[in-house]
Amino acid sequence: MNIKEIVVKYFGLDDKSKERFSEAYDTPFVDDVYKPYIDSEYRIRIPLSGNLYESFDRGWVTLKSVLPDLVSEYNITYEDFYNNKKLYEKNSYRIIKLIRSYFTTDLSYDKIQVFLERMNRYERDKFHEYESYCYENDLHLVNKENVLKAVNLFIDRINELRFSKTKNIEIVLSLNRTDWFLSTTNENWRTCLSLESPSFASYWVSLAGAVVDKNLALLYITNGDKKEYLGNKMDKVLSRSWVLLDKGSFLNTVKFYPNSLLGVKDIDKLLPIPIKGIDRKFEGKYRVEPLFFRNGYSNYIYQDKTNSVDYKDGSFKLVGGDKGLRTFYKHSVFEGPIFSYTKGLMTLINMAEEAECRDIVSFFDYPRTCSYCNNLVSKARVFKIHEDDEEVYCRKCYEDDNTLSRRNNNEDEDEDIKYTAMSSYFIPNNNIIYNERVFNSLRSFSSPIMDGDAVVAIDDNDNNLLKKN
Ligand SMILES: [Zn+2]
Repeated sequence: MNIKEIVVKYFGLDDKSKERFSEAYDTPFVDDVYKPYIDSEYRIRIPLSGNLYESFDRGWVTLKSVLPDLVSEYNITYEDFYNNKKLYEKNSYRIIKLIRSYFTTDLSYDKIQVFLERMNRYERDKFHEYESYCYENDLHLVNKENVLKAVNLFIDRINELRFSKTKNIEIVLSLNRTDWFLSTTNENWRTCLSLESPSFASYWVSLAGAVVDKNLALLYITNGDKKEYLGNKMDKVLSRSWVLLDKGSFLNTVKFYPNSLLGVKDIDKLLPIPIKGIDRKFEGKYRVEPLFFRNGYSNYIYQDKTNSVDYKDGSFKLVGGDKGLRTFYKHSVFEGPIFSYTKGLMTLINMAEEAECRDIVSFFDYPRTCSYCNNLVSKARVFKIHEDDEEVYCRKCYEDDNTLSRRNNNEDEDEDIKYTAMSSYFIPNNNIIYNERVFNSLRSFSSPIMDGDAVVAIDDNDNNLLKKN
């Protein structure tokens, strides 16, 4: 089943959104900056030439970082590493063999200690695995057999990271929507955008909303291997990041997963379109009109370094900001998970086929309402003063001084709460209400702000409130 059919059937979009999704899926919007370079499959492929491998090959970088004395002792060059062969005193050795003999010769506690310290620094994720192999209960006892197992793990890691001789490394900039859906699925690393992610919040559902965003593209690095998911094919992905087009038509990388094989400056040298890392000054080139679920809540992708602001008419622009999944409902917006479902897409499809659910919206977690500001709050983000309280708060109100005073005083302090509510601030068409402190921190917004009944605007110099009425 192709991804488009899957989304239409199981992602719970409303009818209009299904239509918009299908159209954008089949015929992605292509900005002028891509047009001279993009192929018929909506990708720009840049082969990485061999002489560039040395600085990009993380297997090599890891070997040099963890075993610098081995590299210098045998004078191992990148060419030796790439060919996995070293001529030394007229004998030819495989690099792997040199690594093994480095550990089996003169094995000492100090040697292992230094190895582990460097692993801890350069391969933190893998460190504990190595550590448990290297030591038995007493940390001072070096167990030779286990050390060899650890060395094998290290060699596996090098092999996993290194650029293979037979494979062609390519940088790919993709507007192909199937790539967007599959990029983190069926890999030996995982993000919550994997279609089979066991994350409690099913963030992968938000991929549907990405499809209509004209600012967005996917950048990935592949070694040419292919993978498949429910009959849909794409390249194996060694590293990937969303990129966002800004007002000046620059591409901005957002965040690389599982690691950045290439630096943004290196990519910029190779790509025909200027690219840089995103910063707080980012402003998206196009407004985004999000898709909606059939229950009226928006579907837009989890953001790693942007906020969506200024959403007149239900559309919004992207600006440099924070991470979060932001959902719009009528004129409100809230951050946080909206589904409680952990079993991944394939199980969802099976359950729907067995009529155990209709689609993902069957697992919708209705947001709660903050008792203080009346804004919606993701169920996973509510705060309570006492565990068994009915009343819930958003983080801002929970941390607000007035809530604190209420926490410390008796129930008949309602007057205070009323007073604060009346002097709250909000943006028209947006039911979020801010207290003065939070509002002041939002002053950089150029939108007009409502203060009670009076219209209050912020001037261009970002410091005066101009009252109308
Ligand atoms: Zn609140």
